[in-house]
Amino acid sequence: MSNRTFTMIKPDAVKNGHIGNILQMINAAGFRIIAMKYTRISLEQAGKFYEVHSARPFYGELTEFMSSGPIVAAILEKDNAVADFRTLIGATNPAEAAEGTVRKLYATSIGENAVHGSDSDENAKIEGDFFFNGLERF
Ligand code: ATP
Ligand code: MG
Repeated sequence: MSNRTFTMIKPDAVKNGHIGNILQMINAAGFRIIAMKYTRISLEQAGKFYEVHSARPFYGELTEFMSSGPIVAAILEKDNAVADFRTLIGATNPAEAAEGTVRKLYATSIGENAVHGSDSDENAKIEGDFFFNGLERF
């Protein structure tokens, strides 16, 4: 099992001023930052990143939202990183997210849900490689 995951602080959380608080939670949960950037993706790039969801009814809404403003992208390291990070962020729908999770605290809706977390080791690698080259990892 890999010990890395990939995350984005999504445009809603950036716009609402939650970058600092979310990074603090990531740090307090014991994740080490391998790579990080403040950037913005185009509609086309968002479409590629979320290609796995292209048949879902919310695909257009999702890709428009993810390209609507800047995000923070990062590769994180910790034992059991993928599963532990998904525990930290909580359920996709903030109404169902556990108390104290990032989405419970900062998400506003199922679509605008503050953070992304990879769902498998394989996707963590694909997603990290989408944003970062070797020289951007420490
Ligand atoms: P993410 O992949 O962003 O970490 P997730 O793995 O919890 O989230 P997915 O099922 O992969 O959830 O959905 C990807 C994203 O698509 C969600 O985070 C959310 O922004 C959006 N989304 C999912 N379901 C819906 C829905 N029913 N309506 C609107 N947007 C949705
Ligand atoms: Mg997902």
